[in-house]
Amino acid sequence: LTPIKATKSTTQPSQSQPKKKKEKLSALCKTPPSIVRTRNGRDYHRGTFLGEGGFARCFQMKDSAGHIYAAKTVAKASIKNEKTKTKLLSEIKIHKSLKHANIVNFVDCFEDDINVYILLEICPNQSLMELLKTRKRVSEPEVRYFMVQIVGAIKYLHSRRVIHRDLKLGNIFFDPDMNLKIGDFGLASVLPDNNSKKYTICGTPNYIAPEVLGGKLVGHSYEVDIWAIGIMMYALLIGKPPFQAKDVQVIYERIKKTEYFFPADKPISEEAKTLIKDLLSLNPLNRPTINEILSYDWFKGPFPDKTHEISLSDTPRGLN
Ligand code: ADP
Repeated sequence: LTPIKATKSTTQPSQSQPKKKKEKLSALCKTPPSIVRTRNGRDYHRGTFLGEGGFARCFQMKDSAGHIYAAKTVAKASIKNEKTKTKLLSEIKIHKSLKHANIVNFVDCFEDDINVYILLEICPNQSLMELLKTRKRVSEPEVRYFMVQIVGAIKYLHSRRVIHRDLKLGNIFFDPDMNLKIGDFGLASVLPDNNSKKYTICGTPNYIAPEVLGGKLVGHSYEVDIWAIGIMMYALLIGKPPFQAKDVQVIYERIKKTEYFFPADKPISEEAKTLIKDLLSLNPLNRPTINEILSYDWFKGPFPDKTHEISLSDTPRGLN
């Protein structure tokens, strides 16, 4: 990719894609050719379609040695303006700089006339979103184990001044060994220093922090990721995000008032409630920092030693 002159990075809301926009995306992102040859002569063979987001379509890609990757494919025709180009380059630059056991590994990046390809470590077991859809609710020991992995990855991000800004169950994937990997750095941002703030309203409705909804004057920082951890923990334990509603404006009103409750018919431990309440503090400064989360009593409870594939569809024995 030819780097373009960096301009002030801005992001747009990655909210639920209207149908029309999605159809347009599919039309733009034609299926990539069956063989993609990189500039330095490496051939990748396209495999099955893995999924699509607001921006990209993802396919399996196999190299000549038989290694399988996921290729996030962005149609050049969809990179219409400088802003979109800057965003894509920013995602690539940030993702490329990261290496952690619980972050989807960035392998390579190349292009042909039609597409830009971001080659990633393959996560063939989908994400926490599909797991929750199938399981309806997840046991506390399993969620604890997931949380330790997620917190570890975000600790790494925040220590490098990276805010993810789009943490959600659908962006946390399972690798072939069922370890969790955070992906999609499309809204990520690197702070120039720990005191600076971001002002662009972005995120996904159910996961968006109240200070982001406060408008451009308020500003936001690392605490938006902490809020999203609270949303994910609640969703996994209860079965749906705390501020869920059909109407997006209703979701936003609930978030701004932190209007949620713990349903009596879906009991969870007091230790879990304490942690969720702190993570979902209205004032970002009252939320624990990423380095404080694992000190909560909830983490003193039992853990499974590993996540097995059976967990994708069923509660493992002994955990219900
Ligand atoms: P966008 O930036 O457009 O939202 P995503 O990064 O969310 O794109 O990827 C779109 C979809 O592609 C995901 O929802 C998932 O189904 C699939 N996908 C993304 N990364 C991987 C991966 N590393 N392994 C397997 N599938 C992936």
